[in-house]
Amino acid sequence: MDISHIINHLGEEREEYYGAVAPPVFQTSNFCFNSVAEMREKLKRELETPFYSRGYNPTVAILRKKLAALEGAEDALVFSSGSAAVAAAIMSVVNAGDHIVCVQKPYSWTRTVISKYLAKYGVTHTFVDGGEVENFEKAIEENTKLIYLESPNSLTFEMQDITAIAALAKSKNITTIIDNSYSTPINQQPLSMGVDIVVHSASKYLNGHSDVIAGVVCSTKKRIEQLMAEEYMTIGSIISPQDAALILRGLRTLELRVNRSAESAKKVVEFLENHPKIKQLNYPFASKNPQLHLAKKQMKQGGGLLSIELKVEKLEQAEKFCDSLKRFLIATSWGGYESLVFPMCALVASQSFVNPLPWNLVRLYIGLEDADLLIEDLKQALEKI
Ligand SMILES: *Cc1c(COP(=O)(O)O)cnc(C)c1O
Repeated sequence: MDISHIINHLGEEREEYYGAVAPPVFQTSNFCFNSVAEMREKLKRELETPFYSRGYNPTVAILRKKLAALEGAEDALVFSSGSAAVAAAIMSVVNAGDHIVCVQKPYSWTRTVISKYLAKYGVTHTFVDGGEVENFEKAIEENTKLIYLESPNSLTFEMQDITAIAALAKSKNITTIIDNSYSTPINQQPLSMGVDIVVHSASKYLNGHSDVIAGVVCSTKKRIEQLMAEEYMTIGSIISPQDAALILRGLRTLELRVNRSAESAKKVVEFLENHPKIKQLNYPFASKNPQLHLAKKQMKQGGGLLSIELKVEKLEQAEKFCDSLKRFLIATSWGGYESLVFPMCALVASQSFVNPLPWNLVRLYIGLEDADLLIEDLKQALEKI
């Protein structure tokens, strides 16, 4: 795969729009025709030619081509959020009475759509510890139609053996979906490991500038056609042409940004790994990660996200650490240019609050700032606790 060609040129038919170098924003809901006969013809191919922008829009179409090619997929659909993409992909696989096996700590709204929303329609589920392939095997039932993966997950970075689980699923005629937001196709290529459907929050690395909410589903032509005719067109959670153009712009630097963020994160991890005020460091490529071999097997490198458990007694100390950081914004999300800190203690009203994740957990996103300055900042904040 020639990433540079995909990012810079694929899908851009410049002769179609006056040789414009940057793709035009087709800010139109609608397209017109010269005759009834032409309209009739176009209506037959509503999902693959300009007819009405809920289905096909030329700006969005360029983005679809690039995203599909990056993941090594035949086609892709772009949604108005990552959550919309995740929900649509799952709904395209299961029917009432079906069962889903899902890794135990997926993104929060993925968990909600599986455990609460689809339960309303008679879809059942089992969450499993994804560290062992046999946990998936044991959880599979007669009516299991979907295995849902998120490797690594985006808070504690546990990984699943993608190749082995995809093979297990294939042998039982079960569809697999993976959320690849953390790695992006730059660092992990799940379709080449046998996964059926890849989903993304494009709000993170793919757009990369913290100014768009969007999501992606990549798969075979056949699956995407069906998904488009069903979930995409009926729920209608599509991306606007403006936002698609912003993601096209963001994609130009995808490889540069992902690599910079990963290289800086590596330096930060090296600094944090043996720090006396840190109880636990979660990162796929951390030298003490028991899953390090798996990270090396299926990922090119880690991403810019990591989390730490602070060695503190009181909630106030965790809070103080976060408040003392000067170069990290306190915010959710990740994958933009700016470094962020997401404190678990913000979710906790008091220390007695029961949360599946420890209150002393702090997630750091390493953005594009100078790594040494970020490390200095972490150092002074750790000295304050
Ligand atoms: C943010 C995120 C999502 C949801 O995407 P939105 O664009 O916020 O709707 C899904 N999965 C992962 C791993 C995420 O980080």
